[in-house]
Amino acid sequence: MTDRWRPIARLVPAEPASDGAGVRLNRSIATANLPALDPFLLLDEFNSEDKDDYIAGFPEHPHRGFETVTYMIEGRMRHQDNAGNSGLLRSGGVQWMTAGRGILHSEMPEQEDGRMQGFQLWVNLPARLKMSDPRYQDIEPEDVPRVEAGGGATVRVIAGEHGGAIGPVQDVFVRPLYLDITLPAGAAVSQPVPTGHTGFVYVFGGEGVTVTEGDPIADPGQGFPVRYRTLAVLGDGDRVGVRNDTSEDARLLLVAGAPIGEPIARYGPFVMNTEQEIHQAFKDFQEGSF
Ligand code: MN
Repeated sequence: MTDRWRPIARLVPAEPASDGAGVRLNRSIATANLPALDPFLLLDEFNSEDKDDYIAGFPEHPHRGFETVTYMIEGRMRHQDNAGNSGLLRSGGVQWMTAGRGILHSEMPEQEDGRMQGFQLWVNLPARLKMSDPRYQDIEPEDVPRVEAGGGATVRVIAGEHGGAIGPVQDVFVRPLYLDITLPAGAAVSQPVPTGHTGFVYVFGGEGVTVTEGDPIADPGQGFPVRYRTLAVLGDGDRVGVRNDTSEDARLLLVAGAPIGEPIARYGPFVMNTEQEIHQAFKDFQEGSF
């Protein structure tokens, strides 16, 4: 069977944004340009050495109807919810939180200087799971497999599989792939992505990468550039090739998941299927039933 290499369908530069109590972010999904990318609802990158950009954090706020995925590249973030759960996210760690019917939590920096860098991705839930029990998968940095992928490339496997290594995040409805790929100059990585799944590449280090038209290792031919701090929505196919044609090390996320294909009604921290369900979420929140 011939591989069908995924092309780039769209390029979406991240936009500066502010959220929480005034955290500065670069947002690529949940913008006017790209309101959602089913099943993904939001992608924020935070990256600053200036504490004024992050110190205010995300004080207590609710969520209902989806999952929030926090991946720390550098820094420390304390998570606490109203059910008494608490955890510290460290550099390289991940929290995959299924808000389900509702949680009330805070996400606050546990540092007053130095760099804070990472991502928050929102992943939708289908109607039948929106009111499920909340659930946490807290992954320590040392539990994320790191695969040497040839040419000096390394792949951290948070969810899904690369080169026989299976990510620690399990039993998520959209069957996610979440890879953090470091590509030195000239290096390349090839990754299967199931046909029909939504996929994207987001470059967060270096000058940019190339999404290749064919096998990036065996057949180093043409491709399409994705620049720093840009999200490339991938077209359909069963494989993705990425190569670094620049002279600087590059780093990117490669993320994919099964689309849900249901109506989306969203307001702030609530993502449901209908306006009625959004009103109900507000009512439940105001009545203190989260
Ligand atoms: Mn939150």
